Amino acid sequence: MLNVVIFGAPGSGKGTQSERIVEKFGINHISTGDVLRAEIKNGTELGKTAKGYIDQGQLIPDELMIDILASVFDSFKDSKGVIFDGFPRTIAQAGALKQMLADRGQAVSVMLDLDVPEEELMTRLIKRGQESGRADDNEETIKKRLLVYHSQTAPLIDWYKNEGVYKHIQGLGTMDGIFADICKAIENV
Ligand code: AMP
Repeated sequence: MLNVVIFGAPGSGKGTQSERIVEKFGINHISTGDVLRAEIKNGTELGKTAKGYIDQGQLIPDELMIDILASVFDSFKDSKGVIFDGFPRTIAQAGALKQMLADRGQAVSVMLDLDVPEEELMTRLIKRGQESGRADDNEETIKKRLLVYHSQTAPLIDWYKNEGVYKHIQGLGTMDGIFADICKAIENV
């Protein structure tokens, strides 16, 4: 199985590029942010819990996320592979993902780090908030999410370098150019 982690700060283009990867490589997509937004929309208990954290720009507790991830992963039958979008976001989640995959005879094939400068992230997220009305895409919450990214998520770059699966992707440029770099990285796996 091809197991791709697509990584990057909020606004780095993970969601957009994931859709194209799914189409080209025929793999399944797990976006933990999308899963949580669907739970909120459906008014579930999980959704109510998640909303409190999301609106504050904070991360949902690791144990909760790890359970969600495993249940979505196991719902895919005869899958060619999976793209993990927005997970892991902490070292604990990366360790849990490694363990979950190992328990199933699998491993992360490649981690794609979409690297985009901070000013560009701000601009993109504010624009996305205006266009999509996503509640956490407002200036105050975006700033908190970027702080959370730097303190809790960015350490995963070294973690995955250590695992030998890290791949830097220049996240500035045209959507097609970035996608071409991503395809090269995946095809080299
Ligand atoms: P995203 O759509 O990936 O930007 O996620 C939106 C929000 O959902 C984040 O700001 C977090 O509050 C929450 N979230 C999504 N994925 C995770 C995760 N792996 N761990 C903790 N919180 C998450």
